[in-house]
Amino acid sequence: MAGNPPKPPKPPQEAPKKHWTLDDFEIGKPLGKGKFGRVYLAREIKSKYIVALKVIFKKQVEKYKLHHQLRREMEIQTSLRHPNVLRLYGWFHDSERIFFILEYAHGGELYKDLRKTGHFSESQAATALAYCHEKNVIHRDIKPENLLLDHEGRLKIADFGWSVQSKSKRHTMCGTLDYLAPEMVENKAHDYAVDNWTLGILCYEFLYGSPPFEAESQKDTFRRIMKVDLSFPTTPVVSKEAKDLISQLLVKDSSKRLSLEKIMKHPWIVNNADPMGICSE
Ligand code: AMP
Repeated sequence: MAGNPPKPPKPPQEAPKKHWTLDDFEIGKPLGKGKFGRVYLAREIKSKYIVALKVIFKKQVEKYKLHHQLRREMEIQTSLRHPNVLRLYGWFHDSERIFFILEYAHGGELYKDLRKTGHFSESQAATALAYCHEKNVIHRDIKPENLLLDHEGRLKIADFGWSVQSKSKRHTMCGTLDYLAPEMVENKAHDYAVDNWTLGILCYEFLYGSPPFEAESQKDTFRRIMKVDLSFPTTPVVSKEAKDLISQLLVKDSSKRLSLEKIMKHPWIVNNADPMGICSE
């Protein structure tokens, strides 16, 4: 059951059936393992539609008090409709587990691709982020593992477990250390500008292969983030424009970070982004 059919049948949410059970799916190979569960390739038996089935054990949800987080992930991901945002078609549960029926991202993690080829398209990420901003979603957990690719190499933002749909400033400490903005490290209020910082981190990592504030210990990473201890290695050779963009995103004062609109107009994006790779609705 490998591969995506060229013209897939209707995805599960458009099919008439509303109450899904595990018997509706054939389970295939494991696709990956997350913090709280595993993800499998699966096929809805009747429609033959290929999906990714994310399995989360209820015991884990209870142990880590993840109820609110899960509900948020469900609500946010079902409400977002964008070619660069991974779809959540629906969910169901049995006595022990919760199942998320997700759009299958055939290309897997961008991160693996990045390691293999060094090829990337930041403008796709920016486009998807712009959409999330419009919908008032602060993602807060954007990192390479959460960026998936579909069979055409289109970028999909996945895993909204930590995202929050809100207009107000937030006060929680979360996310992955290397991608945290200074205001998050300090546990200060933060808003959508944290994603712009993360874009700067990703852009750097895409170009140099490791995040800019990487250090031996968490303490040192914290310190480097707070100082914005940014340096550009001489190899690989990276253009002046790319360094300029990164420097304008990795700015301590969140209000001075380059806005998404300006990122899209930055010469490096304009000159290097593949317009065919950007999805419009
Ligand atoms: P998660 O629990 O969402 O962090 O997922 C764990 C891993 O499973 C990810 O890092 C991916 O490698 C893989 N994965 C998750 N969702 C999908 C999907 N929709 N399509 C393909 N692979 C996925």
